[in-house]
Amino acid sequence: MTLLDKDIKDLKVLISEEEIQKQLPQLAKNIEKAFNTNEEIYVICVLKGSIMFCVDLVKHFKNPIQMEFIRISSYGHETKSTNNLQAIDLTLPNLNNKNVLIVEDIIDTGLTARFLTDLFRIKHHPKKLIFASLLNKKCARQIDIEPDFHCFEIDDKFVVGYGLDYKGYYRNLPYIGYFPI
Ligand code: 5GP
Repeated sequence: MTLLDKDIKDLKVLISEEEIQKQLPQLAKNIEKAFNTNEEIYVICVLKGSIMFCVDLVKHFKNPIQMEFIRISSYGHETKSTNNLQAIDLTLPNLNNKNVLIVEDIIDTGLTARFLTDLFRIKHHPKKLIFASLLNKKCARQIDIEPDFHCFEIDDKFVVGYGLDYKGYYRNLPYIGYFPI
């Protein structure tokens, strides 16, 4: 029985586990440098897609870290952004005057990034807000927004793995892959 219309045997590796892991120590260093403080950093993991990236990234921070989790959905079960953002859980502590790092899996149209950065600026008044994304699908952008930091720029393909899913599957892969059309 096939559970999915996309089979793992057709999946091609786009970014290997080694390539991903190699980027993380320097990324953490660059982010801490940008905060320029010894104070704690509130790391906001945007579920579900950024779970792997966030968990691996925080291991490299030297500053004290608080981890928070919010949940947003934008793709549903499609491979194209629906432009239909669903905020599922935005429960957070008081972040007023705190150093806040939003950790995303991928910036595609930019809608989620815009929604989140506006929300944090307007509602939480952080001392400094930094937005980091593992992947940047620049060519798919509909909103004029760029992450402060990203690890890899990719073409306009639908990717899975390392937290990113197709119909809820493939998040557990340690690499980023895609299904050739
Ligand atoms: P945006 O709001 O920038 O269009 O989309 C951001 C969200 O869409 C990401 O956090 C991610 O959940 C989802 N997304 C965008 N591109 C992809 C992709 O190539 N693969 C997967 N699995 N999700 C994606």
